[in-house]
Amino acid sequence: MAVTNFSTERVFAERMDAVDPLAAFRDRFVWADESLIYLDGNSLGPLPRATQIRIAEVVGAEWGAGLVRSWSRWVDLPRQVGDLIGAHLIGAAPGQVLVSDTATVNLYKLACAALDAQPGRGVIVTDDDNFPTDRYVLQGIAAQHGCELRMIHTDMDQGLGEETLQAALDPEVALVSLSHVAYRSGALADMARITQLVHDAGALMLWDLCHSVGAVPVELDSCGADLAIGCTYKYVNAGPGAPAFLYVRGELQEQLRQPVWGWFGQSDQFQMGPRYDPVPGIERFATGTPQIIGTVAVQEGTRLLAEAGMERLREKGIALTSYLIRLADEWLAPRGFTLASPRADARRGAHVCLHHQDAWRISQALISAGVIGDYRMPDRLRLGPTPISTRFTDVWDALDRLRQLAADRSYADLPAEPSRIT
Ligand SMILES: *Cc1c(COP(=O)(O)O)cnc(C)c1O
Repeated sequence: MAVTNFSTERVFAERMDAVDPLAAFRDRFVWADESLIYLDGNSLGPLPRATQIRIAEVVGAEWGAGLVRSWSRWVDLPRQVGDLIGAHLIGAAPGQVLVSDTATVNLYKLACAALDAQPGRGVIVTDDDNFPTDRYVLQGIAAQHGCELRMIHTDMDQGLGEETLQAALDPEVALVSLSHVAYRSGALADMARITQLVHDAGALMLWDLCHSVGAVPVELDSCGADLAIGCTYKYVNAGPGAPAFLYVRGELQEQLRQPVWGWFGQSDQFQMGPRYDPVPGIERFATGTPQIIGTVAVQEGTRLLAEAGMERLREKGIALTSYLIRLADEWLAPRGFTLASPRADARRGAHVCLHHQDAWRISQALISAGVIGDYRMPDRLRLGPTPISTRFTDVWDALDRLRQLAADRSYADLPAEPSRIT
């Protein structure tokens, strides 16, 4: 799958598609408009056909006909699907992953639990380029707990500097919370090394996997990670607002108490007892009634990725992004675009950012030309050639249209101000 004997001719992309072992997976998704080029699966993944069928079954047979009786088969689903994610996507042995809530809420739960478990340490470390919800949630926790949020500076395009992190670690630090793949640049952090650095300082490490789960192989257990969260509507293709997941390393589960004392984490839940007494395992991180239709979509999305295999997906992801970068170097660099992602394959997730001073207008013109990517503040065009569903010819066609509109400046008449959702 490597990009060797590169050429800018379209036939090169056609040849890459012809030898792509994952090419058939494209047909496992719904494509209502065959002419659309979708490079935004890292924001909202496309709909798997199996999910469409399965949701209809769950709604019709399990909810419609089974009614409340179906809870006996639904009740363990968040843990079962958590184990499936653990086994195939994030390198976690059973009993450590739970599907629940949203990524934002799970981050809150786990960060509070970690802080409370480290009395005498009053600092949380994160970086100023972390995803906004992460920074805001940690700001809120710091304010509530009266502790310090230590914000380290990260280069927006190249990702976290390990020396900068090292310099911020001291015996006051309770928790470090970082993204594994940066949402804008796609910069990929070295999980094993950073987790080790944080452990050497006596702190706990919480990873945000939203932009890495399903995009790059993740090995939480073997990296010694303590805590992780992630969403499922990006590379896991589980649909808008589908439930997220959380990971808590087995040995830590007993010591940690999350702040939302809901009845789904309670031992003998249906005893309806007077006092909260959480179950021993991963389900103590559950809150209230799980979202079943969404959880089923997470299961189908995970099965599809498992069938493709994370190793092959990673290989194709590197090939697609490095091909995209090669074409951008040839065609777009002379038109004022610069790469705003790490150039080294090993330092990049499955998406790429390009900088251009008119990125907002160009992203809008590109949508009109039938290519959906997105714009990210400030002046960045983000392109996500999702490995499971993107063809090399999609990348060629997208960049060909981009070079045409950059050449004729057809975007120049569009409004310069970004809209509410970008
Ligand atoms: C997408 C994303 C989120 C989203 O959190 P939600 O609670 O699902 O809105 C959080 N963190 C990162 C790094 C993301 O990329």
